[in-house]
Amino acid sequence: MQWETVIGLEVHVQLATRSKIFSGASTAFGAEPNSQACAVDLGMPGVLPVLNEAAVAMAVQFGLGIHAEIPEVSVFDRKNYFYPDLPKGYQTSQMYHPIVGPGEVEITLDDGSTKAIRVHHAHLEEDAGKSLHEDFHGMTGIDLNRAGTPLLEIVSEPDMRSAKEAAAYLKAIHSIVTYLGISDGNMAEGSMRCDVNVSVRPKGQEAFGTRAEIKNVNSFRFVERAIAFEVERQIELLEDGGEVVQETRLFDPERDETRSMRTKEQANDYRYFPCPDLLPVVLDRAYVDHLRDNLPELPADKRARFQEALGLSAYDAGVLSASRDMAEFFEAVKDVCGDAKLAANWVQGELSGALNREGLPIQDSPVSAQQLGELVARVKDETINGKAAKQVFQALWNGEGESADAVIEAKGLKQVTDTGAIEAMIDQVIADSPAQVAQYRDAEPDKRGKMIGYFVGQVMKASRGTANPQQVNALLKEKLDALC
Ligand code: ADP
Ligand code: MG
Repeated sequence: MQWETVIGLEVHVQLATRSKIFSGASTAFGAEPNSQACAVDLGMPGVLPVLNEAAVAMAVQFGLGIHAEIPEVSVFDRKNYFYPDLPKGYQTSQMYHPIVGPGEVEITLDDGSTKAIRVHHAHLEEDAGKSLHEDFHGMTGIDLNRAGTPLLEIVSEPDMRSAKEAAAYLKAIHSIVTYLGISDGNMAEGSMRCDVNVSVRPKGQEAFGTRAEIKNVNSFRFVERAIAFEVERQIELLEDGGEVVQETRLFDPERDETRSMRTKEQANDYRYFPCPDLLPVVLDRAYVDHLRDNLPELPADKRARFQEALGLSAYDAGVLSASRDMAEFFEAVKDVCGDAKLAANWVQGELSGALNREGLPIQDSPVSAQQLGELVARVKDETINGKAAKQVFQALWNGEGESADAVIEAKGLKQVTDTGAIEAMIDQVIADSPAQVAQYRDAEPDKRGKMIGYFVGQVMKASRGTANPQQVNALLKEKLDALC
């Protein structure tokens, strides 16, 4: 039997407001426990919440960024439940009238193809506090600093069909919110986490299977691993004649498995009702239009522009537009050197390789966009060859020179294109290698092409890497063949 995987994601994005969604308490990360929770966050009697306008603006910007409908009116509801990290006894959320209506997110797959994933809606809500289990023997600590932090919950339709698509969707959301600057997108600090809904069905069947919901997965890699495990578990269960039960599960990254947490609650368990302390949010058109007019260029548009206006491949355009920092760095390099394709190669090749090795984000690159652009310009105008360019890059990376030109000058890396000089080096190498010359002469003509590599290597060495390799190749072939 062939099975098909069906996935829907609920992504929680922490919005980058400075104060909380309904109070003036700070949202800064990493403060002393319980130093940033005020009476409103704790739901003390007699206090009233006041909606933070910045959170509304950010939610609307996201909606506009995914071409969603923005309803004129949205309403906050209370979701009632008891938990130690929720002293109010309810979470203020939006159940029936969310701030962002249906929209669409375009994802890019490894082969460069794209697919549209529908977003059902996105709503605003407040985060709860945190339970701390590690530092307390036989007890649990509660830190309420996070209580009241604004979250945007983005609910997809069940449109994804593989773990790879789910990861690509999460990456797309990450890149949209960081482009917009409405979240720092820091998954390790919990600024973005998601609930993964997974089911399987026999291929060709229309009706969805019963799903399990895996809670609070907080990395791209974990999303893929949790889905892989869950799909296998469900298929095995069904093939053994069992049934999948609708339940909430937890992913354990150490054991690479999901475990049952509780059977799925129903919406009516929460007794949702409109929050009597908060007025409905009414957005006038001018407000929404103003936000729309001030949106930055978003990843999908940038990708299209990189392909159409700059002539990059779908793959290059996808990689270079995935993060705003990367895109801005690339464009700065391109503006300095005047060649998009070369700039793309250097940013994705030498630079990304070095950054990955050192675990550095591109905004902390020791080689600036200006420096790299000048280096690429020297490759383009053939002042240096590819080999020397790598040396220049390494020197700039190590802080051994202010600019590409300074390094080229100091290290004498200027490419030698003077035929006379190259010929002199070739003659010397031929004179020094009688055995290899004899071998070359005795070889079948179709084998000689391969054997020329030895001589090229020697000449490049003699020139300390500065000879023009194409010229060396051509001249060598001429001279060696003349000896045959
Ligand atoms: P609930 O209100 O119980 O959380 P929703 O209908 O709002 O349920 O769906 C929550 C998430 O689960 C959505 O992202 C949706 O796409 C996804 N989902 C719903 N049904 C399935 C299914 N059969 N398989 C996989 N995902 C599903
Ligand atoms: Mg849900």
